[in-house]
Amino acid sequence: MAYTITSQCISCNRCLSVCPTNAIKVTDGKHWIDSTLCTNCVGSAYSVPQCVAGCPTYDGCIEQPSDYWESWFTTYNRLVGKLTKKQDYWERWFDTYSQKFSEILSESQRDRNLTLLVSNPTH
Ligand code: SF4
Ligand code: SF4
Repeated sequence: MAYTITSQCISCNRCLSVCPTNAIKVTDGKHWIDSTLCTNCVGSAYSVPQCVAGCPTYDGCIEQPSDYWESWFTTYNRLVGKLTKKQDYWERWFDTYSQKFSEILSESQRDRNLTLLVSNPTH
């Protein structure tokens, strides 16, 4: 699984010189990793991926998600992050959604208990 460069990249160029396989490329000022050249640094003198180790950003360089949905979220997080200037847009969306869902669930549970109590007052 190759590594990839995200929208967090600040184009500091640090990873360019440390990649043992010259897999990091720059096109129109944007850094990207050629997955056909990236070896994850396996078989090199390094025990950790050098692009990740040297990157000054939080997740400018990450392992490419293998799962479809992981990939989907990574892509859309990046796009939504750019549009909204909020990097945690989806996390917040899920937090809000799961909170609402829990509220609805407990309300429905309460209603069900009330119905049981009314239909069977001895319980
Ligand atoms: S993981 Fe290693 S080989 Fe792959 S891009 Fe990063 S530094 Fe280069
Ligand atoms: S080290 Fe990180 S921030 Fe710098 S160019 Fe590479 S990916 Fe971008």
